[in-house]
Amino acid sequence: RRERLQAESEGPGRTKDGRHVELLANIGTIGDALVAAAGDVEGSGLFRSEFLYLGRHSAPTVEEQTESYREVFEAFGSRKVVVRTLDAGADKPLAFASLGPDVNPALGMRGLRLQREFPGLLETQLEAIARARDLTDVDVWVMAPMVATVAEIRWFADAARAAGLNTVGAMIEVPSSALRAERILEVADFASIGTNDLSQYLFAADRLQGRLGHLLDAWQPGLWQLVKHAADAGTRAGKPIGICGEAGGDPLLALVAVGAGISSLSMSLTKVGLVRASLAMHTLDQCRAMTDAVIASLTPEESRAAVLELADPDV
Ligand code: PEP
Ligand code: MG
Repeated sequence: RRERLQAESEGPGRTKDGRHVELLANIGTIGDALVAAAGDVEGSGLFRSEFLYLGRHSAPTVEEQTESYREVFEAFGSRKVVVRTLDAGADKPLAFASLGPDVNPALGMRGLRLQREFPGLLETQLEAIARARDLTDVDVWVMAPMVATVAEIRWFADAARAAGLNTVGAMIEVPSSALRAERILEVADFASIGTNDLSQYLFAADRLQGRLGHLLDAWQPGLWQLVKHAADAGTRAGKPIGICGEAGGDPLLALVAVGAGISSLSMSLTKVGLVRASLAMHTLDQCRAMTDAVIASLTPEESRAAVLELADPDV
């Protein structure tokens, strides 16, 4: 039945009772973008832009960047593409914007923090995104990585709007911004939860340390308690709040996310079909019961077992 549903279901993601959930692709290169754009997705919910910057001795010019963005935007036609501005630094150092080594790279000068140290970096990127947008029909959204405070998203939003980019978001991947999502969404038009880094920072467990896998398990009840808190802020504000971390691509955790109030899921293209089929098999109320069961659990094993119990056996 799952195969049949997967083969039959196409178009926008919907729960069994019709709640729309945007299904989007994560992309990180022009090649990825061309493949994803040919897929059955409503757009890209995470366009990682690091590929333009890493391994270079000088920053890419506005013209170079514009050309790359144009290729990607053109492929998506009039669909939505959420560009995440440069998330370099620390373990992904830039030869042309170095602040010396960090002792704790994950807690160091990365993401928006690096952009703030080298302001020209962000302005150039935003200008290129706006120029490429003007050459295509794409619905472009921009979002900042590693937002930790309201002041930071205000700084980013001002820069983006000054560049003519009017749909501005914050990634929620630092616990402080999840806690303060309500205030972040007074400034931002949308938010997107990066569960990879949110797990790392919530559990103080380096995402590159394999031996801490149990803490980084996406079934950790504490992660979903915090996701629900942030998603509630989105629901109250009437603003989109998505997930673009790995957890959103799991067919069962996607249900937990939707039950929490998440309005879009962005994942690698290969995962979209199963997630779409899983949504089609469950009602919003079933998803909500799953979210409650996860939050009430004490361990990842317990939360997964509780959701399996509530889920259609064919998932
Ligand atoms: C995340 O942290 O969940 C995320 C989507 O961003 P990245 O994996 O690029 O850090
Ligand atoms: Mg991240």
